Amino acid sequence: MSRLVVVSNRVGDPRKPSAGGLAVAVGETLASAGGLWFGWSGQVVDERAPGEGELHQQRVGRFTLATVDLSRQDHDSYYLGYSNQALWPAFHYRLDLADFERAHFEGYKRVNRMFAAKLASLLRPDDVIWVHDYHLIPLAAELRMLGCTQRIGFFLHIPLPPPPILAAIPGHEGLMRWFFAYDVVGVQTQMDLEHFVRFIKDEARARPLGGDRYQAYERTLCARSFPIGIDVEEFQHLARSREALETYATLKEEYAKRRLLVGVDRLDYSKGLPQRFRAFRELLANYPENRMSATLIQIASPTRENVHAYEDIRHELEGLSGEINGNYGELDWMPVRYIHRTWARRRLAGLYRNARVALVTPLRDGMNLVAKEFIAVQDAEDPGVLVLSRFAGAAEQLREALLVNPYDVETTAQVIQRALRMPLAERRERHAALYERVRREDVHAWRRAFLAALNGEQNADADQEAAVGHA
Ligand code: ADP
Repeated sequence: MSRLVVVSNRVGDPRKPSAGGLAVAVGETLASAGGLWFGWSGQVVDERAPGEGELHQQRVGRFTLATVDLSRQDHDSYYLGYSNQALWPAFHYRLDLADFERAHFEGYKRVNRMFAAKLASLLRPDDVIWVHDYHLIPLAAELRMLGCTQRIGFFLHIPLPPPPILAAIPGHEGLMRWFFAYDVVGVQTQMDLEHFVRFIKDEARARPLGGDRYQAYERTLCARSFPIGIDVEEFQHLARSREALETYATLKEEYAKRRLLVGVDRLDYSKGLPQRFRAFRELLANYPENRMSATLIQIASPTRENVHAYEDIRHELEGLSGEINGNYGELDWMPVRYIHRTWARRRLAGLYRNARVALVTPLRDGMNLVAKEFIAVQDAEDPGVLVLSRFAGAAEQLREALLVNPYDVETTAQVIQRALRMPLAERRERHAALYERVRREDVHAWRRAFLAALNGEQNADADQEAAVGHA
């Protein structure tokens, strides 16, 4: 059997409790079958020259973690610059926030070239290579230039915008060529897939070969959607941990007379947090029965604090929560609890279980795993209600949630009111349908489907459709 090589910007030790979804998903395969996990070490070394980095290798059970340090300049241009200030906003439809600085683009290419050179020295001829996310789009092309002929797949964890937005990215022609160095390109949703296919047909004149295969630049790739899921058992296990139970008990006591709404996000402009706070303000203004009762706990973990757009959103949220608490709060009721910190995932599980309503209302999101985590730990006999943005990738699967347009603050408030008043029978019915899907389409199903495609197994559904289409 081929060896699996996973490449992602950040690598994680799957044995650590803080490991998170990707680490659990790929870690399990690597731990059982052996393999290699390659990526940035997380270290920035000031004295290094750009394009240079030391390779570290560490044995973790049956597999090897191989990591490379980055020089300061590479980190600032490849990671902070091009990945997070150009690709992240552009792929989240926010060209207004994108900064396409040439030097950052050069750094992006330079680091991918350096990663490819380090990785190539570790590869075996029959490896299969699975590359993750937008930091590493050029990696396969760089590996091909070094003579690597292994099967290489790419999975994009963030949204893929419509062609006119992609076409605004300087150098997008190169982006397309980079994609065609892969054998498989996976995205989160059907909509992302449609965007990708339109883009490669219009801009690269890609020729459909039937099924999910396309040809351009004398190469063939398979493009498919693979909606990522969570590890349901792992998260339910966390929900039974001491910290989760303690969090649950404390909140239950403290908010015995209140109805809790929760939001859990990284503090990112894609998450629609100001719109969410405004919708909550509308709820209190338009439905006074919620005063002295509805309480929004918003956990917003800090990320990318050194990027300007993040500072702006932090100030905006502080202003909005202060205003709502000032206008509506009472001595013994604070409507918004805004916590700008990272919480342990175990405690999150306890928080989700207390909530009557979860607000997952991004303006644009690749998938959104918080929505799935919330569903996974509800009490099936008395479940909370998920209010979900139609612009989250998860909305394609989680149709029984209450779907909202987060830009429409007034209607969102109405839907939150509906969620708060939803009869038990309807809550149970919706939850049962959502839970079934979260369980079936979990992270293990996602990983199996992607690896099957990467190993060249045919997609029976797509092939059948193609046969019908060609008949
Ligand atoms: P993104 O990948 O854009 O951050 P997702 O919702 O897909 O969004 O995944 C976020 C993951 O990070 C989830 O597993 C969630 O539990 C965790 N997470 C999000 N916000 C926080 C927070 N404030 N504290 C701790 N963990 C968080």
